[in-house]
Amino acid sequence: MHIDLVTLSLVGALQALLLAPLLLAATRAYTGVARQSLRIWGTVLVLQALGWALMGARGQISDWFSIVLANGILMVSYAETARALRLLLGVPPRRGLLAAIGIGGWLGIVWFAQVQPDYPMRVYIATASLGGFLLLLLWPLRHALRPGGSSAQRVMLLVLLGAAAGWFFHLGELVFGDVPAPGLLDATPGNVAQMIYSAMEPVFASVGFLLMYNEMAQAELRRLARTDPLTGTLNRLALDEMAQALFQRATPHSGAVLMIDVDHFKTINDRFGHAGGDRMLAALARGIGGCLRKDDVLGRVGGEEFLVLLPDTGIDDALVLAERLRMAAARLQVVLDGEPQSVTVSIGAAARDATDTEPATLIHRADRALYAAKNAGRNRVATLEATPPAPARDVAECGD
Ligand code: GH3
Ligand code: MG
Ligand code: MG
Repeated sequence: MHIDLVTLSLVGALQALLLAPLLLAATRAYTGVARQSLRIWGTVLVLQALGWALMGARGQISDWFSIVLANGILMVSYAETARALRLLLGVPPRRGLLAAIGIGGWLGIVWFAQVQPDYPMRVYIATASLGGFLLLLLWPLRHALRPGGSSAQRVMLLVLLGAAAGWFFHLGELVFGDVPAPGLLDATPGNVAQMIYSAMEPVFASVGFLLMYNEMAQAELRRLARTDPLTGTLNRLALDEMAQALFQRATPHSGAVLMIDVDHFKTINDRFGHAGGDRMLAALARGIGGCLRKDDVLGRVGGEEFLVLLPDTGIDDALVLAERLRMAAARLQVVLDGEPQSVTVSIGAAARDATDTEPATLIHRADRALYAAKNAGRNRVATLEATPPAPARDVAECGD
């Protein structure tokens, strides 16, 4: 079977060229880094189409176009591929390093094409540059291999590993093969396999790219749907989910909740307006959040009420933590209308017992305890649980 590599490379170029406007048009709906990244990717496809078309025309056009210009364009396209992917993944783009690899590789190829023609040297240099680009592409994707890693990133990793396999094959040819190595467009099995793969790669990689974007957009939507926009803490929906998950995981007697309500918050709104009240709420959430332990979960259940889920915690420790949160809230000062203002909070604590069959009963007890705290004069912690006689102890301030 005769496979014409020039035709293959032109088919690859045509595919990339047709894909580019589709992708560039699609990016209009995207925002932020994803838009920037996909725009670069669309441009990369045009560059690759041009590069491969020029490369395929070797012999019919001047070497200045088919070697010097084609390799220059391909180097830029590889560097930009790495930049686009790294941008999308949120890792530093490393533009300086990418430019150094691209320019160094290109100068080497031009030198050994035009000044001191040496085909094996050109292959060595192209292989080294490609290896550098591949490393910068593959390295940030390594996290996808962890259990539970991103499946879209795994697809991308697979596509790039295909390219890396071709690279290793060339390396093998260089190290163990006959010198001079066959020309790039000679139909050796290695060249045929690599050209077929290169022709299909724009489609594979574009699919991988879009899958990655889609996965990230989904994760961001999920995060937004679970976050309270004012305080950045979890919202009610997320709290319900977390409470349910904790309840299923924890053994009875090993979880507690705190219900927190700001005292006389209406007066803050009355004096400083809703915007002033909002600033106070956001600051309170930050202050309370800063006092929690790593596994504790803070969320806003509505208005000026917060709920804290405390996994693996009994009533004793829950009360100590609640006292710490109460003190932290009272200490907090927020400048409203040019004057520092502070508020106090009341907190109801409840710990899970064997009769709790769902989180709602536990949260309800914390709610009732909260109103007991309000009725007892506010700015205090209360619980309806039977507690062991508390030794008089100083509760350390949070951060101490
Ligand atoms: P207390 O809890 O001590 O009994 O008195 P309170 O004045 O805090 O009373 P309550 O908890 O019933 O009132 C809560 C107020 O919080 C009423 C509402 O105007 C205000 N509020 C609710 N949601 C928001 C919000 O998102 N931003 C602001 N600024 N205020 C809010
Ligand atoms: Mg209140
Ligand atoms: Mg309230």
